[in-house]
Amino acid sequence: MANRLNWIQEELDTLQQAGLYNRIRTIGSPQGAWLVVDGKKSLNFCSNNYLGFANHPRLLKAAQEAINRYGIGPAAVRSIAGTMEVHLELERRMAAFKKVDAAITFQSGFCANLAVIPALVGKEDVIFSDELNHASIIDGARLSGAKIIRFAHADPASLEQVIKEAAGTYRRALIVTDGVFSMDGDVAPLDKIYAIAENYDILLMVDDAHGEGVLGTGGRGIVDHFHLHGKVDIEVGTMSKAFGVMGGVVAGKPVIVDWLRQRGRPFLFSSAVTPPDAAACIAALDVLEESTELVDRLWDNARYFKAEMKNLGFDTGVSTTPITPIMLGEALLAQQFSRSLFENGVFAMALGFPTVPKGKARIRVMISAAHSRDDLDKGLEIFRKVGRELGVIQ
Ligand code: PMP
Repeated sequence: MANRLNWIQEELDTLQQAGLYNRIRTIGSPQGAWLVVDGKKSLNFCSNNYLGFANHPRLLKAAQEAINRYGIGPAAVRSIAGTMEVHLELERRMAAFKKVDAAITFQSGFCANLAVIPALVGKEDVIFSDELNHASIIDGARLSGAKIIRFAHADPASLEQVIKEAAGTYRRALIVTDGVFSMDGDVAPLDKIYAIAENYDILLMVDDAHGEGVLGTGGRGIVDHFHLHGKVDIEVGTMSKAFGVMGGVVAGKPVIVDWLRQRGRPFLFSSAVTPPDAAACIAALDVLEESTELVDRLWDNARYFKAEMKNLGFDTGVSTTPITPIMLGEALLAQQFSRSLFENGVFAMALGFPTVPKGKARIRVMISAAHSRDDLDKGLEIFRKVGRELGVIQ
């Protein structure tokens, strides 16, 4: 191997030795309560498919019809020739679902964050950012060139403190927080954060990737959960989790959406989601607007599983949502736990540094409406077996 590549191999070896090398498994079936992982049928506790939409017949049918009508790809960036009726329809529907006036879609939630943050703040500005915000928020913030000031996780007092300290040092400011924190499953105190944003007249943005389809009435998200419609300036979302498809969205005031059509770089320089993606997202909205059944089942499942895990003696951290971390501490233990689960037919990922802080490795169980009670009981049984074998529970 060429010398100039040696350092990469050394870094990879270091990751292997520390138990931090992520060996990515291969899925050979649709996402659902069960799936085929590396050729083996396994109970799925890994996906963000909260409502089972990733293989829902209504979404599949909508995608197939869209292919017949529009073909497979948009064939251009949207501002040149890639905006199709189906993209605009999705944006109208998304805005209506979230009870705001406008929405713009992107290729992914990651792209939405890379688009919106640099469009709103720049070198002379500051971003007040929760210290546990998602990587895509951090990258969007860095890309903007604004000064990033972190506040203590989910702590309004800390936010207010850093705002006071920064007074007079900037042109514009943006407060940004995840809605549901993806590693811990806790919910941002958005009502209190909004009160501070309002008091100091600062733009407020929430990334609701794990709140959409989960929180609020019929899965309308964190803004609905806190009854803050029209008050939070920017709601970022993704269609890759509860919606089961792919794509990102920014919802809020028309002036922001209009500005993103002019200045959101992933919108201007990268092609849109495909027509079948967009049509499937519209079908997901149809299902969500018709009934709260799937969202209700998701929460029933999440409450049941978490309570039973606690009864078994596991530490599920601070989660109040269907994201259920099983706190284990050391990365090697978490990896070993995940391997044993897999050998016993359960697919649940170990998360270690840098995804979570050092010493806070965990297994993250993602509960879905697609799970039956039987599935959950089977999972609980295997967690009990592996937990005892590895000395995590009595
Ligand atoms: N924001 C948050 C909070 C997320 O958890 C994720 C996905 N891990 C994203 C954004 C990115 O979403 P997408 O997969 O659509 O790019």
